[in-house]
Amino acid sequence: MILVTGGAGFIGANFVLDWLAASSEPVVNLDKLSYAGNLHNLDSVRGDARHVFVQGDICDAALLERLFAGHQPRAVVHFAAESHVDRSIHGPQDFIQTNIVGSFRLLEAARGYWSRLPADARAAFRFLQVSTDEVYGTLAPAEPAFSETRGFEPNSPYSASKAASDHLVRAWQHTYGLPVLTTHCSNNYGPYHFPEKLIPLTIVNALAGRPLPVYGDGLQVRDWLYVRDHCSAVRCVLDAGQPGQTYNVGGGNEKPNIEIVHTVCALLDELRPRADGQGYACQITHVRDRPGHDRRYAVDARKIERELGWRPAETFASGIRKTVQWYLEHADWVANVQTGAYRDWVQTQYQSA
Ligand code: NAD
Repeated sequence: MILVTGGAGFIGANFVLDWLAASSEPVVNLDKLSYAGNLHNLDSVRGDARHVFVQGDICDAALLERLFAGHQPRAVVHFAAESHVDRSIHGPQDFIQTNIVGSFRLLEAARGYWSRLPADARAAFRFLQVSTDEVYGTLAPAEPAFSETRGFEPNSPYSASKAASDHLVRAWQHTYGLPVLTTHCSNNYGPYHFPEKLIPLTIVNALAGRPLPVYGDGLQVRDWLYVRDHCSAVRCVLDAGQPGQTYNVGGGNEKPNIEIVHTVCALLDELRPRADGQGYACQITHVRDRPGHDRRYAVDARKIERELGWRPAETFASGIRKTVQWYLEHADWVANVQTGAYRDWVQTQYQSA
């Protein structure tokens, strides 16, 4: 049994689906179901006895204690977080609460449970912290990609809160001996991605005939990884990673945001052309840049490749095509996530440049 937190969100749900497809080992999935959590992401495992969903908050120490005692997990895979940089700029409080306080409570519950295990189970136990490359800060154009030895220089409330929780995870190993692992992954894309993030937002807005907002000049560079490749990296680290180590995970796909938007438009032009014959790129609208927007992230993933033999299965070309096709085939899922609350948020976000 493993305990997954945040398993109704974008990456967590993909991870749970992958896990149950590949393994007979059950999963307890603890998720608060914030605006970003969506049980429809897990429709395909509804009724599967190996999946136990618990709606609850990682800040709830009593609930965590009951979960550990009741399910006796051999590992924790910690995805639960507030994850959207723009939301963290408008309201950092939830990010401090979930990403820092919640991670602290989870570490404490895991430590209490782990400390009472027999010696062999203590040695085999793992706490895997799923983190981001954004904790490293921003890169100049010619600088080498982030390696695991790079110092943390987080620039947004989101990345600062993730960096804080990464430090707690490290300290729980150094001080108490809890066997922890940390991954720092680049930008994910793929199925079940909430349409406030660049790629799903572009697809959903394009199809609805709405503007395609691009921050500033659109030349901010990110590395992109297909979400199922992130899931395979997390499994790989859980299986073979050395406790106390951190592993960077990336796709080797550095691309400026504007290129991503043009790629999505070109795929939609091919797969679902606009009725008037124009390309979707005519909907691109540059909007005022995000304050403190990091210019470039790039990840050096050679350690996980060399030491654990992990490689991504998708190229960017294959992954982005699968993603666009998935959104075209899942109009119901898209309609379901577009609640009134979501629309209100988007409307406060994008002011014309
Ligand atoms: P997401 O926002 O889609 O999902 C987060 C999930 O956590 C949601 O289901 C939400 O309901 C749940 N949650 C939030 N607060 C909670 C709480 N207090 N208690 C219990 N559950 C709670 O996020 P995501 O994009 O799937 O990211 C998952 C993890 O991966 C995060 O820790 C994020 O920092 C990390 N990460 C994301 C990316 C990316 O590109 N999306 C890249 C690298 C790392």
